Amino acid sequence: MTKMIMVSVKPYDQKYFEQANQKFNLSIDYSPIHLTEETAHLFQGYSAICIFVNDIANEKVLNILKNNGIKLIALRCAGFNNIDLECAKKLGITVCRVPEYSPQAVAEHTVGLILTLSRKYHKAYNRVKEDNFALDGLLGFNLYQKTVGIIGTGKIGLATIKILIGFGCKVVCYDPSPNPVVNEIGAEYLPLDQVFQQADILSLHCPLTPQTHQLINTESIQKMKKGVCLINTSRGGLIDTQAIIAALKQKHVGYLGLDVYEQEADLFFEDLSDQIIEDDIFQRLLTFPNVLVTGHQGFFTQEALQCIAETSLTNIQKFEAQQAIPAEFICS
Ligand code: NAD
Repeated sequence: MTKMIMVSVKPYDQKYFEQANQKFNLSIDYSPIHLTEETAHLFQGYSAICIFVNDIANEKVLNILKNNGIKLIALRCAGFNNIDLECAKKLGITVCRVPEYSPQAVAEHTVGLILTLSRKYHKAYNRVKEDNFALDGLLGFNLYQKTVGIIGTGKIGLATIKILIGFGCKVVCYDPSPNPVVNEIGAEYLPLDQVFQQADILSLHCPLTPQTHQLINTESIQKMKKGVCLINTSRGGLIDTQAIIAALKQKHVGYLGLDVYEQEADLFFEDLSDQIIEDDIFQRLLTFPNVLVTGHQGFFTQEALQCIAETSLTNIQKFEAQQAIPAEFICS
Protein backbone atom coordinates (compact mmCIF):
# COMPACT_ATOMS: atom_id res chain seq x y z
CA MET A 1 0.00 0.00 0.00
CA THR A 2 1.25 3.50 -0.89
CA LYS A 3 2.27 5.36 2.24
CA MET A 4 2.32 9.12 1.73
CA ILE A 5 3.97 11.91 3.67
CA MET A 6 2.51 15.36 3.23
CA VAL A 7 4.99 18.16 4.05
CA SER A 8 4.66 21.89 4.82
CA VAL A 9 1.29 21.04 6.33
CA LYS A 10 -0.83 23.68 8.06
CA PRO A 11 -3.91 22.77 10.10
CA TYR A 12 -6.19 23.90 7.24
CA ASP A 13 -4.41 21.55 4.77
CA GLN A 14 -4.78 18.61 7.13
CA LYS A 15 -8.47 19.38 7.72
CA TYR A 16 -9.32 19.33 3.99
CA PHE A 17 -7.13 16.28 3.22
CA GLU A 18 -8.60 14.31 6.14
CA GLN A 19 -12.11 15.16 4.99
CA ALA A 20 -11.36 14.11 1.39
CA ASN A 21 -9.51 10.98 2.51
CA GLN A 22 -12.68 9.57 4.08
CA LYS A 23 -13.53 8.55 0.51
CA PHE A 24 -10.05 7.25 -0.43
CA ASN A 25 -8.77 5.74 2.82
CA LEU A 26 -5.12 6.27 1.89
CA SER A 27 -2.32 6.03 4.45
CA ILE A 28 -1.17 9.63 5.04
CA ASP A 29 1.23 11.13 7.58
CA TYR A 30 1.27 14.90 8.00
CA SER A 31 4.38 17.00 8.71
CA PRO A 32 4.75 20.78 9.13
CA ILE A 33 8.40 20.53 7.99
CA HIS A 34 9.30 22.03 4.61
CA LEU A 35 11.11 19.92 2.03
CA THR A 36 14.67 21.27 1.60
CA GLU A 37 18.17 19.88 1.09
CA GLU A 38 18.50 19.80 4.89
CA THR A 39 15.20 18.02 5.63
CA ALA A 40 14.82 15.59 2.70
CA HIS A 41 16.53 12.75 4.63
CA LEU A 42 13.80 12.90 7.32
CA PHE A 43 11.12 11.48 5.05
CA GLN A 44 11.80 7.75 5.10
CA GLY A 45 9.43 4.82 4.74
CA TYR A 46 7.16 6.49 2.19
CA SER A 47 6.60 5.88 -1.52
CA ALA A 48 4.80 9.20 -2.16
CA ILE A 49 5.37 12.75 -0.95
CA CYS A 50 2.90 15.61 -1.26
CA ILE A 51 4.59 19.01 -1.50
CA PHE A 52 3.57 22.68 -1.86
CA VAL A 53 4.74 25.82 -3.70
CA ASN A 54 7.78 26.68 -1.59
CA ASP A 55 9.11 23.17 -1.00
CA ILE A 56 12.35 22.61 -2.86
CA ALA A 57 12.78 19.57 -5.10
CA ASN A 58 16.14 20.22 -6.79
CA GLU A 59 18.61 17.57 -7.95
CA LYS A 60 20.10 17.00 -4.48
CA VAL A 61 16.68 16.70 -2.81
CA LEU A 62 15.36 14.39 -5.54
CA ASN A 63 18.33 12.05 -5.18
CA ILE A 64 17.79 11.82 -1.41
CA LEU A 65 14.06 11.15 -1.93
CA LYS A 66 14.80 8.50 -4.55
CA ASN A 67 17.21 6.73 -2.18
CA ASN A 68 14.49 6.87 0.50
CA GLY A 69 12.05 5.04 -1.79
CA ILE A 70 9.92 7.92 -3.09
CA LYS A 71 8.31 7.05 -6.42
CA LEU A 72 5.67 9.78 -6.64
CA ILE A 73 5.76 13.52 -5.93
CA ALA A 74 2.26 14.97 -5.77
CA LEU A 75 2.25 18.76 -5.92
CA ARG A 76 -0.83 20.17 -4.22
CA CYS A 77 -0.66 23.27 -6.43
CA ALA A 78 -0.61 24.19 -10.13
CA GLY A 79 2.86 25.72 -10.62
CA PHE A 80 5.89 23.38 -10.67
CA ASN A 81 8.82 25.78 -11.06
CA ASN A 82 10.21 24.51 -7.72
CA ILE A 83 10.94 21.05 -9.09
CA ASP A 84 13.77 19.79 -11.33
CA LEU A 85 11.56 17.82 -13.72
CA GLU A 86 14.38 16.59 -15.91
CA CYS A 87 16.16 15.10 -12.90
CA ALA A 88 12.90 13.55 -11.60
CA LYS A 89 12.39 11.93 -15.00
CA LYS A 90 15.96 10.54 -14.98
CA LEU A 91 15.39 9.11 -11.52
CA GLY A 92 12.07 7.56 -12.56
CA ILE A 93 10.04 9.64 -10.08
CA THR A 94 6.54 10.52 -11.34
CA VAL A 95 5.51 14.13 -10.66
CA CYS A 96 1.86 15.12 -10.69
CA ARG A 97 0.01 18.32 -9.82
CA VAL A 98 -3.39 19.94 -9.53
CA PRO A 99 -3.52 22.04 -12.72
CA GLU A 100 -6.93 23.54 -11.99
CA TYR A 101 -8.67 23.84 -8.65
CA SER A 102 -10.35 27.19 -8.71
CA PRO A 103 -9.07 29.69 -11.25
CA GLN A 104 -11.87 31.95 -10.01
CA ALA A 105 -10.29 32.03 -6.52
CA VAL A 106 -7.09 33.61 -7.89
CA ALA A 107 -8.96 35.77 -10.43
CA GLU A 108 -11.24 37.19 -7.71
CA HIS A 109 -8.22 37.87 -5.49
CA THR A 110 -6.53 39.65 -8.41
CA VAL A 111 -9.54 41.93 -8.84
CA GLY A 112 -9.65 42.38 -5.06
CA LEU A 113 -6.08 43.71 -5.17
CA ILE A 114 -6.95 46.05 -8.04
CA LEU A 115 -10.02 47.42 -6.23
CA THR A 116 -8.23 47.77 -2.91
CA LEU A 117 -5.48 49.78 -4.57
CA SER A 118 -7.83 51.83 -6.76
CA ARG A 119 -10.33 52.64 -3.95
CA LYS A 120 -7.92 52.46 -0.97
CA TYR A 121 -10.14 50.14 1.08
CA HIS A 122 -7.23 49.21 3.36
CA LYS A 123 -6.79 52.85 4.36
CA ALA A 124 -10.53 53.50 4.68
CA TYR A 125 -10.90 50.48 6.99
CA ASN A 126 -8.24 51.77 9.39
CA ARG A 127 -9.54 55.35 9.31
CA VAL A 128 -13.13 54.48 10.10
CA LYS A 129 -11.93 52.24 12.99
CA GLU A 130 -10.49 55.45 14.49
CA ASP A 131 -13.67 57.48 13.85
CA ASN A 132 -11.93 59.39 11.06
CA PHE A 133 -14.45 59.85 8.27
CA ALA A 134 -12.47 62.38 6.22
CA LEU A 135 -12.13 61.51 2.54
CA ASP A 136 -8.87 63.37 1.86
CA GLY A 137 -6.29 60.94 0.52
CA LEU A 138 -8.88 58.33 -0.44
CA LEU A 139 -9.57 59.62 -3.96
CA GLY A 140 -9.72 56.64 -6.30
CA PHE A 141 -10.21 55.91 -9.98
CA ASN A 142 -12.90 54.02 -11.93
CA LEU A 143 -12.15 50.67 -13.52
CA TYR A 144 -14.86 51.39 -16.10
CA GLN A 145 -13.24 52.13 -19.49
CA LYS A 146 -9.71 51.57 -18.21
CA THR A 147 -7.42 49.39 -20.33
CA VAL A 148 -6.26 46.26 -18.54
CA GLY A 149 -3.32 44.25 -19.88
CA ILE A 150 -3.36 40.51 -19.15
CA ILE A 151 -0.12 38.56 -19.62
CA GLY A 152 -1.03 34.87 -19.87
CA THR A 153 -4.59 33.92 -20.84
CA GLY A 154 -4.76 30.41 -19.39
CA LYS A 155 -7.32 29.40 -16.79
CA ILE A 156 -6.69 32.22 -14.28
CA GLY A 157 -6.04 34.89 -16.94
CA LEU A 158 -9.31 34.01 -18.67
CA ALA A 159 -11.31 34.03 -15.42
CA THR A 160 -9.82 37.46 -14.64
CA ILE A 161 -10.68 38.78 -18.11
CA LYS A 162 -14.33 37.71 -17.69
CA ILE A 163 -14.65 39.68 -14.44
CA LEU A 164 -12.94 42.77 -15.88
CA ILE A 165 -15.11 42.76 -19.01
CA GLY A 166 -18.05 42.90 -16.57
CA PHE A 167 -16.54 46.06 -15.05
CA GLY A 168 -16.56 47.67 -18.51
CA CYS A 169 -12.78 47.54 -18.95
CA LYS A 170 -11.02 47.29 -22.29
CA VAL A 171 -8.88 44.14 -22.03
CA VAL A 172 -5.72 43.65 -24.11
CA CYS A 173 -3.76 40.41 -23.78
CA TYR A 174 -0.53 38.68 -24.64
CA ASP A 175 0.00 34.92 -24.73
CA PRO A 176 2.26 32.92 -27.10
CA SER A 177 -0.60 30.35 -27.30
CA PRO A 178 -3.73 32.47 -27.92
CA ASN A 179 -7.15 31.14 -26.91
CA PRO A 180 -10.04 31.99 -29.31
CA VAL A 181 -12.44 32.34 -26.34
CA VAL A 182 -10.55 35.50 -25.34
CA ASN A 183 -11.68 37.24 -28.56
CA GLU A 184 -15.18 35.81 -28.30
CA ILE A 185 -15.72 37.46 -24.90
CA GLY A 186 -14.57 40.87 -26.13
CA ALA A 187 -10.85 41.05 -25.29
CA GLU A 188 -8.08 41.26 -27.88
CA TYR A 189 -4.55 39.94 -28.34
CA LEU A 190 -1.70 42.36 -29.04
CA PRO A 191 2.10 42.01 -29.23
CA LEU A 192 3.64 42.11 -25.74
CA ASP A 193 5.15 45.60 -26.14
CA GLN A 194 1.76 47.03 -27.12
CA VAL A 195 0.15 45.46 -24.06
CA PHE A 196 2.88 47.12 -21.93
CA GLN A 197 2.27 50.45 -23.69
CA GLN A 198 -1.54 50.51 -23.55
CA ALA A 199 -2.31 49.11 -20.10
CA ASP A 200 -3.53 51.34 -17.26
CA ILE A 201 -3.56 48.16 -15.17
CA LEU A 202 -1.27 45.22 -15.95
CA SER A 203 -1.88 41.79 -14.43
CA LEU A 204 0.46 38.79 -14.68
CA HIS A 205 -0.99 35.29 -15.16
CA CYS A 206 1.78 33.40 -16.97
CA PRO A 207 3.89 30.65 -15.37
CA LEU A 208 7.45 31.27 -14.17
CA THR A 209 9.78 29.83 -16.83
CA PRO A 210 13.26 30.82 -18.07
CA GLN A 211 11.43 32.93 -20.73
CA THR A 212 9.23 34.78 -18.21
CA HIS A 213 11.80 35.17 -15.39
CA GLN A 214 11.92 38.92 -14.55
CA LEU A 215 9.62 39.75 -17.47
CA ILE A 216 8.95 42.93 -15.54
CA ASN A 217 12.31 44.70 -15.44
CA THR A 218 13.75 48.18 -15.94
CA GLU A 219 13.38 47.95 -19.71
CA SER A 220 9.80 46.66 -19.78
CA ILE A 221 8.70 49.14 -17.09
CA GLN A 222 9.98 51.99 -19.31
CA LYS A 223 7.47 50.89 -21.98
CA MET A 224 4.54 51.18 -19.55
CA LYS A 225 2.33 54.21 -18.91
CA LYS A 226 3.43 56.50 -16.10
CA GLY A 227 1.33 55.64 -13.06
CA VAL A 228 0.55 52.08 -14.22
CA CYS A 229 -1.06 49.72 -11.71
CA LEU A 230 0.86 46.43 -11.71
CA ILE A 231 -0.58 43.25 -10.21
CA ASN A 232 1.22 39.92 -9.73
CA THR A 233 -0.70 36.93 -8.39
CA SER A 234 1.33 34.46 -10.44
CA ARG A 235 4.93 33.89 -9.28
CA GLY A 236 7.36 36.32 -7.63
CA GLY A 237 10.17 35.61 -10.09
CA LEU A 238 8.22 37.33 -12.89
CA ILE A 239 9.26 40.68 -11.41
CA ASP A 240 12.71 42.20 -10.84
CA THR A 241 11.93 43.59 -7.38
CA GLN A 242 14.85 46.07 -7.34
CA ALA A 243 13.63 47.50 -10.67
CA ILE A 244 10.08 47.85 -9.36
CA ILE A 245 11.31 49.65 -6.22
CA ALA A 246 13.23 52.12 -8.42
CA ALA A 247 10.10 52.62 -10.57
CA LEU A 248 7.93 53.21 -7.47
CA LYS A 249 10.42 55.82 -6.24
CA GLN A 250 10.31 57.53 -9.65
CA LYS A 251 6.47 57.32 -9.57
CA HIS A 252 6.52 55.46 -12.90
CA VAL A 253 4.66 52.59 -11.24
CA GLY A 254 1.65 54.19 -9.53
CA TYR A 255 0.26 51.11 -7.74
CA LEU A 256 1.64 47.67 -7.00
CA GLY A 257 -0.38 44.68 -5.81
CA LEU A 258 1.51 41.48 -5.03
CA ASP A 259 0.33 38.09 -3.82
CA VAL A 260 3.70 36.54 -4.59
CA TYR A 261 7.32 37.58 -4.05
CA GLU A 262 10.54 36.10 -5.40
CA GLN A 263 12.02 35.38 -1.93
CA GLU A 264 8.66 34.48 -0.37
CA ALA A 265 9.87 31.03 0.75
CA ASP A 266 11.60 32.69 3.73
CA LEU A 267 8.48 34.63 4.72
CA PHE A 268 5.10 33.50 3.52
CA PHE A 269 2.74 31.08 5.25
CA GLU A 270 4.41 31.74 8.64
CA ASP A 271 3.57 34.08 11.53
CA LEU A 272 6.76 36.15 11.82
CA SER A 273 5.17 38.97 13.81
CA ASP A 274 7.62 38.49 16.73
CA GLN A 275 10.69 38.19 14.55
CA ILE A 276 13.09 40.53 12.77
CA ILE A 277 12.60 40.34 9.00
CA GLU A 278 16.04 40.37 7.42
CA ASP A 279 14.90 40.87 3.83
CA ASP A 280 15.55 44.60 3.33
CA ILE A 281 14.13 44.59 -0.19
CA PHE A 282 10.80 43.20 0.99
CA GLN A 283 10.74 45.63 3.93
CA ARG A 284 11.37 48.55 1.52
CA LEU A 285 8.40 47.43 -0.59
CA LEU A 286 6.14 47.58 2.45
CA THR A 287 7.04 51.23 3.13
CA PHE A 288 5.28 52.51 -0.02
CA PRO A 289 1.71 53.76 0.56
CA ASN A 290 0.70 52.53 -2.91
CA VAL A 291 1.94 48.95 -2.46
CA LEU A 292 -0.32 46.17 -1.23
CA VAL A 293 1.10 42.74 -0.43
CA THR A 294 -0.82 39.60 0.48
CA GLY A 295 1.01 36.41 1.45
CA HIS A 296 0.20 34.04 -1.43
CA GLN A 297 -3.47 33.70 -0.51
CA GLY A 298 -4.97 33.89 -4.00
CA PHE A 299 -5.79 30.16 -3.96
CA PHE A 300 -7.03 30.19 -0.37
CA THR A 301 -10.77 29.55 -0.57
CA GLN A 302 -12.84 26.68 0.82
CA GLU A 303 -13.74 25.55 -2.70
CA ALA A 304 -10.11 25.51 -3.84
CA LEU A 305 -8.82 23.60 -0.78
CA GLN A 306 -11.52 20.97 -1.24
CA CYS A 307 -10.67 20.53 -4.91
CA ILE A 308 -6.90 20.43 -4.23
CA ALA A 309 -7.35 17.64 -1.67
CA GLU A 310 -9.70 15.58 -3.86
CA THR A 311 -7.56 15.89 -7.00
CA SER A 312 -4.29 15.12 -5.18
CA LEU A 313 -5.79 12.02 -3.56
CA THR A 314 -7.32 10.85 -6.87
CA ASN A 315 -3.85 11.10 -8.47
CA ILE A 316 -2.25 9.16 -5.63
CA GLN A 317 -4.97 6.49 -5.68
CA LYS A 318 -4.48 6.00 -9.43
CA PHE A 319 -0.73 5.69 -8.93
CA GLU A 320 -1.28 3.14 -6.17
CA ALA A 321 -3.64 1.13 -8.39
CA GLN A 322 -1.01 1.31 -11.17
CA GLN A 323 -3.51 3.14 -13.37
CA ALA A 324 -2.30 5.92 -15.65
CA ILE A 325 -2.63 9.39 -14.10
CA PRO A 326 -4.29 11.51 -16.86
CA ALA A 327 -1.75 13.54 -18.85
CA GLU A 328 -3.10 16.93 -17.69
CA PHE A 329 -2.14 16.06 -14.09
CA ILE A 330 1.40 14.92 -14.96
CA CYS A 331 4.20 17.52 -14.90
CA SER A 332 6.44 17.21 -17.91
P1 NAD B 1 -2.36 28.03 -17.22
O1 NAD B 1 -1.33 27.02 -17.56
O2 NAD B 1 -3.80 27.68 -17.39
O3 NAD B 1 -2.09 29.38 -18.03
C1 NAD B 1 -0.83 29.94 -18.20
C2 NAD B 1 -0.85 30.69 -19.52
O4 NAD B 1 0.38 31.41 -19.62
C3 NAD B 1 -0.95 29.77 -20.74
O5 NAD B 1 -2.02 30.18 -21.58
C4 NAD B 1 0.39 29.93 -21.42
O6 NAD B 1 0.32 29.83 -22.85
C5 NAD B 1 0.77 31.34 -20.99
N1 NAD B 1 2.18 31.64 -21.15
C6 NAD B 1 3.23 30.79 -21.17
N2 NAD B 1 4.37 31.48 -21.41
C7 NAD B 1 4.00 32.77 -21.54
C8 NAD B 1 4.72 33.97 -21.82
N3 NAD B 1 6.04 33.96 -22.04
N4 NAD B 1 4.03 35.13 -21.87
C9 NAD B 1 2.69 35.16 -21.68
N5 NAD B 1 1.96 34.06 -21.45
C10 NAD B 1 2.61 32.88 -21.37
O7 NAD B 1 -2.07 28.45 -15.71
P2 NAD B 1 -3.10 29.12 -14.67
O8 NAD B 1 -3.83 28.06 -13.93
O9 NAD B 1 -3.87 30.20 -15.35
O10 NAD B 1 -2.06 29.75 -13.63
C11 NAD B 1 -1.22 30.83 -13.98
C12 NAD B 1 -0.17 31.01 -12.90
O11 NAD B 1 -0.83 31.43 -11.69
C13 NAD B 1 0.52 29.67 -12.49
O12 NAD B 1 1.63 29.44 -13.29
C14 NAD B 1 0.90 29.91 -11.06
O13 NAD B 1 2.23 30.36 -11.05
C15 NAD B 1 -0.03 31.04 -10.59
N6 NAD B 1 -0.92 30.65 -9.49
C16 NAD B 1 -0.96 31.43 -8.39
C17 NAD B 1 -1.82 31.12 -7.33
C18 NAD B 1 -1.92 31.98 -6.10
O14 NAD B 1 -2.41 31.52 -5.06
N7 NAD B 1 -1.49 33.23 -6.14
C19 NAD B 1 -2.61 29.97 -7.41
C20 NAD B 1 -2.55 29.20 -8.58
C21 NAD B 1 -1.70 29.54 -9.62
